[in-house]
Amino acid sequence: MLIVMTAHASKGEVDSVIRVVESLGFRAHVMPGATRTAIGVTGNQGAVDLSHFENLPGVAEAIRVTKPYKLITLDLRPERTVVDLGGGARIGNGSLAIIAGPCAIENRKQAFAVADVVQRSGAKFFRGGAFKPRTSPYAFAGLGEEGLKILAEIRDQFGLKIVTEALDEGNVELVEKYADMIQIGARNMQNFTLLRRVGRSKMPVLLKRGMAATLEEWLLAAEYVMAEGNYNIVLCERGVRTFAQHTRNTLDLAAVPAVRRISHLPVIVDAAHGTGRNYMVTPLARAGVAVGADGIMIEVHARPDEALSDGAQSLTLDEYEQMVREVSSIHKVIAANGSRF
Ligand code: PEP
Ligand code: MN
Repeated sequence: MLIVMTAHASKGEVDSVIRVVESLGFRAHVMPGATRTAIGVTGNQGAVDLSHFENLPGVAEAIRVTKPYKLITLDLRPERTVVDLGGGARIGNGSLAIIAGPCAIENRKQAFAVADVVQRSGAKFFRGGAFKPRTSPYAFAGLGEEGLKILAEIRDQFGLKIVTEALDEGNVELVEKYADMIQIGARNMQNFTLLRRVGRSKMPVLLKRGMAATLEEWLLAAEYVMAEGNYNIVLCERGVRTFAQHTRNTLDLAAVPAVRRISHLPVIVDAAHGTGRNYMVTPLARAGVAVGADGIMIEVHARPDEALSDGAQSLTLDEYEQMVREVSSIHKVIAANGSRF
């Protein structure tokens, strides 16, 4: 259920609605907006009697939500969510967020070389895995906490915000200690205990689309996180499995406008995992920006041929700099023309 308050509802009136919601054993999610506050109600199994709320002071209307999601929708929050990590690092505010770095943190020297270029490019976010989900149990699985410490040093030295993956519930606390944003990988998009755990975190979440997930499944995964009270979520389209053999995954660019139509959450495009091929990364990053993504994720390595993971889809430092110039120009054109996605 969704309770829409009148434009002039007072805080006291909002609080009394919350009290009634909680007295029924449900949870209230308050979403203040530019013109009115909306309160999403979760925790009810069946339909709630709207008359509990319709006549409370300050309530404009109580609406039964028939869609599978209640919190990620534009019905609850017509304004876009802006995920703000501080220091000017925002996603969803109309700027182009660039999240770049190596697939995995391999050692200090490797990570610092990339961070230096990422920072000089004007990007505000640095990515790098310390816990890596690998298809083979024998492949490099990341440095663990040592990798997180390198990431924290990068934040201190370069002022970049750190985005890194938590592979399981046990990792989340460590990631919270060292990073600024928790990445949930494609393979974990439906790890519901992990989703609930990051839903209880104070840290923003980057939620990748599962490699065979429908739009609805992906949005419901975000709903899991929101239902626990964490509203700072960025969706990341990273390609899905198809019969195509010319790419590692098929980057579903139509997912960007499709998300926009339903949700207030920002959405970014991962052109690295979305293609798996170095020569395709820049063209698809350009396309991601053109289609209206709030940002892009890119893997970068000084020596892709020596990378311990995902070298085939990593840009060199020079290629990365050139890519940033190209996507920035495209973003400027789109912003100048006031495109509405
Ligand atoms: C990654 O970002 O390095 C990664 C493992 O991504 P995905 O979960 O999309 O495969
Ligand atoms: Mn990778």
